[in-house]
Amino acid sequence: MNKTLRLAQESAAAIGLEEDGQTGTLFGVRDGYNVVLALSEQSNQLLQVSVSVCQGGQLPDVKTLKAVAKSSKALLGCTVQRFRVTYGIRVGRTKAKTQENIRTALEDLTQFLHQNGFSNCCQQCGTIGETDAYTISGETKQLCPAVLCGPSN
Ligand SMILES: [Zn+2]
Repeated sequence: MNKTLRLAQESAAAIGLEEDGQTGTLFGVRDGYNVVLALSEQSNQLLQVSVSVCQGGQLPDVKTLKAVAKSSKALLGCTVQRFRVTYGIRVGRTKAKTQENIRTALEDLTQFLHQNGFSNCCQQCGTIGETDAYTISGETKQLCPAVLCGPSN
């Protein structure tokens, strides 16, 4: 088991996220946003948090989203692919510090999304509302229940 992922799993249980048995990815709802915690594909030392959001049904503004990575001590970097937004989570020097960073990162992020009027949406079609996390080809996607977006596609 990867050390970074194990730390995340230990903290995730405390904040009510669920674990995908196959991939070890963690997912759940925080303050009305569906979040996914997973290791970066580029580095298994880097933990990332992803959300899928829109602004008034439109693609989210990249510049606005990048601002929270600067203001939060726990977030670093920001990648936007259409509706899907991914941030890195800073690793602390100790286990306790890393776990604190995970909690802070989620808090900072969801608070920021609320304050800036982002809505939770399907990462494929952008429909606002609750989504479910599906693991497709090793990647966790946040999709709405529409036939075109569901796991069969
Ligand atoms: Zn959809």
